[in-house]
Amino acid sequence: MLLPILKQPHPFLRGQSQRVDSILSDETQTLINNMQETMVAAEGIGLAGRQVGRDENIFLINNHGRIMVFVNPRIIYRSRQRQVGEEGCLSIPGVYGLVERSKAVIVKYHDELGQLRLRRFKDLPAVVVQHEYDHNRGVLFIDKVLEYTAGEDLIAEEK
Ligand code: ZN
Repeated sequence: MLLPILKQPHPFLRGQSQRVDSILSDETQTLINNMQETMVAAEGIGLAGRQVGRDENIFLINNHGRIMVFVNPRIIYRSRQRQVGEEGCLSIPGVYGLVERSKAVIVKYHDELGQLRLRRFKDLPAVVVQHEYDHNRGVLFIDKVLEYTAGEDLIAEEK
């Protein structure tokens, strides 16, 4: 089922997500499936629970064609080396800008099967992870934009 994507300035986008206790429950599994369907339909490379009006601390990314699910993620390491890339957001259509983020991150999370994982991301996947992680803490990329752009040179985007 496709889920409606909330658009800025919807106040829900500024909320704080809650821990998921039952990853294998029907409700959580259905939400994950629906988020996946919604992200693919929107041609996004990332989608966070808050963007579809849900409190569950879950986000998805499309990592070079492979969809990865992050439940209760925690970024436990951010590299001091930074990268600047152009970002967009399914919740803020038509707006693009340059954002500086860590070049690499290590994330501790549960996957959709409830398995605890620790994984390092760098470059574009690291940007997407940081962008989605921010969403579930009520932070949007426009809070961090160095300079607005035309969206012609997207390296880091949801769409
Ligand atoms: Zn976004």
